[in-house]
Amino acid sequence: NHKFDSVKQVLLGDVGTGKSSIVLRFVKGQFVEFQESTIGAAFFTRTLSMNDQTVKFEIWDTAGQERYHSLAPMYYRGAAAAIIAYDITNPATFTRAKKWVQELQAQGTAGIVMALAGNKADLLEARKVTAEEALAYAQENNLFFMETSAKAAINVNEIFHEIAKRLLQS
Ligand code: GDP
Ligand code: MG
Repeated sequence: NHKFDSVKQVLLGDVGTGKSSIVLRFVKGQFVEFQESTIGAAFFTRTLSMNDQTVKFEIWDTAGQERYHSLAPMYYRGAAAAIIAYDITNPATFTRAKKWVQELQAQGTAGIVMALAGNKADLLEARKVTAEEALAYAQENNLFFMETSAKAAINVNEIFHEIAKRLLQS
């Protein structure tokens, strides 16, 4: 029975995929339609209790713009977990997500727990990336996959719970 003091966790993915919205949903239970673009990175915390253990997430929400790419290693270095987000209505963001996965596999912490989040799952009629394609990619690359919606509060708590569960098992 050990208690984690803290877990460094990073959110990566293209601008506009909903990274900040996922964090806002998880940390404050809120959603805003006109979420401001993140400048550089933003920091949030939330503690989850799992049975008799607690995981304090220290979350770095990154900007996603290419011009901030060189800063990304500061945020993923030493991170125990990462959420890589794409937008299910935008295939280019899925391509970008795969690039982040490759970068984390090459430069990230050994054994990092990685979650692939197909966000905006409320926009089903605009879907361009199938769940099957993303799931197959996730399984081949040793990350777990969930479709999420920060707006509709779908799978946001669940993705953090699954990360915590995997961290506690490892
Ligand atoms: P970030 O650049 O990855 O941090 O993305 P933001 O969190 O700033 O979100 C970009 C835009 O997408 C904002 O207008 C959000 O309101 C919207 N958005 C974020 N998550 C969702 C979602 O789950 N569903 C829908 N429909 N819109 C979302
Ligand atoms: Mg943002």
